[in-house]
Parts: sequence; structure tokens; C-alpha cells
Amino acid sequence: MAEPIIKLKDLEITYNLGKVNEFKATRGVTMDIYPGEFVAFFGPSGCGKSTIFYSILGILAPSAGQLFVKGENPYSFSPEEMVRFQTSVIGIIYQAFFLIPSLSVIDNVALPQIFQGVPVKKRRAWAKELLKRFDMEEHAEKYPENLSGGQSQRVSVSRSMVNNPNILLADEPTGNLDSVSTKQVMDALETINMVDKKTVIIITHNAAQLSYAHRVFYMKDGKLERIVPNPEKKQIAKIDKQKILVTEMDKLSKLFPYSSPTELKVKSVVNYLTQDLDFDQLSKLENLTQLMIERKISKDEFSKLLSRDLKQGGVGISGGVAETMANKVLKILEQSEDTRRFRRRFERNNFFAREDFLIEKLTGYVEKEYSGEFTLSQKIILKKLVYKRISGLFNKEEFEEKLQKTQENGGLSLDQNMARKLTLHFEKIIAQGSESKGHGH
Ligand code: ADP
Repeated sequence: MAEPIIKLKDLEITYNLGKVNEFKATRGVTMDIYPGEFVAFFGPSGCGKSTIFYSILGILAPSAGQLFVKGENPYSFSPEEMVRFQTSVIGIIYQAFFLIPSLSVIDNVALPQIFQGVPVKKRRAWAKELLKRFDMEEHAEKYPENLSGGQSQRVSVSRSMVNNPNILLADEPTGNLDSVSTKQVMDALETINMVDKKTVIIITHNAAQLSYAHRVFYMKDGKLERIVPNPEKKQIAKIDKQKILVTEMDKLSKLFPYSSPTELKVKSVVNYLTQDLDFDQLSKLENLTQLMIERKISKDEFSKLLSRDLKQGGVGISGGVAETMANKVLKILEQSEDTRRFRRRFERNNFFAREDFLIEKLTGYVEKEYSGEFTLSQKIILKKLVYKRISGLFNKEEFEEKLQKTQENGGLSLDQNMARKLTLHFEKIIAQGSESKGHGH
């Protein structure tokens, strides 16, 4: 198998070395990236992703450890060799595009070729070719200020490819883009990887983009926490057979990308203890629940699928339990309609005629979860609390606390367990009834 195109060994990068504000941004980072791989660096802000990038780019020297790109140590290069390295071995794309405002699109793309001494006609023709590839040909004579974010990024993708580099580094390339432009840029990177066979490394915050990568490098606190191969992609790096086996941990790590392996193991066991369902069952349950929430299946279909055998596409839950679960979900969904109605009107106008009626209904739903009987004055208090929570004057904790307060203090004197039960039920109704805001991070 090919030698790694990038090799880091115990890489350590310290900012402000020897000063009072000395800061170790990465520690003991060891990784091999192979020619033709698409790799994603993923991790919370400040974990050291960009630091490693700039180090690979030759502009941030390691404080300790080793770094090789195409078998060479860039920090041993003469200034001329460094220029060659940074212009023709590595292409880079930034979140903020960094196009030059005074140059037209085509000249922005051709710019890196000036430093290579390519004659103007030739470099413009080549730039045009690239713009065509990334669907930007018709904008060639425009200036950057007249482009949308997505178009600007496709120009910088074209520019990054102009010297035909081996490696493309993309630092949060879609951080400023809407979802349509994001897909176009990610697809362009995928083409560069799959068709041009370039090694592509991206920094991303967006878990949805991890599916483009052969391998995901999860970083945390300056360390490489783990490397997860993408089971959907044919691997280039040699992967332990054992590692490519998709385990519950891999699935959990997709759901909880920022959790450490220990945290994932804890989740796995806790799932097992609390639900009596294994991960396969849980994820099938989630899929079915989604269909139910989106009203694509009826309660009876939901219940039937829950109790159907696992091998026949069901969840394998016993009939009685399945029926109870289905009823619970249906109840929440039905009750949440009133939350939705209330929130819609409330957000438009602070007062409306049917407000009281909806609060009454919502109060009734909370009351039903109570095992005892409320007095009239308790009902009036509960209604006030429900109103405050649903209109956002109280948060969940305040609502739960108030339920436990005495009547003189505006509460219902409920014990802790009952207060929690009513709060949980009400919170589910609120959550299901709120307009979804999409899944950013
Ligand atoms: P990421 O790309 O994962 O968000 P960075 O690599 O930018 O993280 O930063 C890693 C850590 O190093 C952060 O805590 C950051 O504050 C620190 N850092 C980054 N650049 C500098 C610098 N020039 N001087 C001092 N500390 C820095």
C-alpha cells in the first residue's frame, strides 16, 4: 500500500513558547493520511483543528514531534522550496473565501499561477476551465462583491485547484453558507477527491458532512481522540477488520459526536439498563417514532410495527407494552396540537380571545397525569403555572419547583416525584408542539 501523504508523529504545538501566556494547543497527535483519502477533522471549537492545518501548511512549526508531507519535512525547506510547496503541493480553502475584491473572478482563480510564471493567456484559459467545472463559468468576469456566498466559495474551490495540488485543505468551507450552497461545495470537494483523486482534508463542525469522509478524526482538547472509518465508503487506509465492524459504539458515536469513548460506553450500558432494548431496537424505535411524529403512520400501524418481530422489520416489543407505548405517543402528539395553536397565536399577538380556552385544555392534560384530585383553588393555580410555562415566563425548572411549593407560595404542595412526572409530561407536549427550528448545531 502507498506511503502516507501526510504523517504526524507525536505532534505538539505550543503557542507563545516560553512566555507567560504559553499554551499547548496540540499534544501527542499521531496520524497517517493516505493519498486519495477524504478525511474530516471534527471536534469542538478550540480543540486544535486549525492549529494542525496550519502546521501541515508549513506556517506553524511543531514545538515537538514530527511532521512529513509527501515524505518531506516542510520546515526544512528553503524559502523558494516553501513557495513551491504551498502553491503546488497544497491547495487551501477558507471559511471566509479570501477573494481579492479588485480582481475579477477569473483573475482571482488564475492568481496563484502568476507566481508560477504561467503566461496570461494560458492561465486564464485554465482558470476558465476550472470555473466551468464548478459551474461558475458565467460569472467569470464579475467581481467578488457581486457573488453570493456559495458562488464565492466555488470560486475559491476553483482557485485552490489551479496549480493542481496533491492535497486540498478546507477550513470550515461551508461555515458561512446556506444548505443549498453547502451541498454544492461539499459535492465539489467530493468530485475533487473521487475524480481528481486528490487528498482532501476538511475541518467541519457539521456532523452531516462526516458522511463524505473516508475517515473521521475526532479531536478534543488538543488530542486526537479517535479515528472512525466510515463504513459506507471503500477504505483507502488499511483498517483493522475489527474496526470496520459497525458496532453499537460507532452508531452511538454518530449520535453523540463529541462524547469520549468512555461516555459512549456509559450510554450503551445505561440504555441497556433503562430500556430493556438494545441499540438496534432503539434505532428502529426512533425511526418508527419519527414516522409517527410526521403523521406518516397511524397509531395502530405504529403499535403493530413495535410488536412485530425484529427480523421482520419490527422492534420486537411485546404486544401489551407496544400498545401502551403507542397510546402514550399518540396522546402526546394530540395534546401538543394545542401547544402549537397557543404558541402560534401567542407569538403573533400577546392577547387573543381563545387564549383562555387553550390554557384550560393544556391544564387539563397536565391534571390528567395527576393520580389524585385537585381542588378548585389548586386548579386555578395550576392554570396560572401552565400559562407562565407555555408563554415562556417560567423555565422547566421553575415550573417543577413551583409545583412543590405550598399554596400560599403559589404552588400545589406536590411531592418531588409527582412534580417531576407532571413536568415531564408537560415538557413533552411543549416540545412536540413547538415549531421545529431545523437542526443546526
Ligand atoms: P479549532 O480549529 O479546533 O477551533 P484552534 O486550532 O484554532 O482550534 O485553537 C486551539 C487552541 O489554541 C485554542 O484554545 C486557541 O485559543 C489556541 N490558539 C489558537 N491560535 C493561537 C495563537 N495564535 N496564540 C495563542 N493561542 C492560540
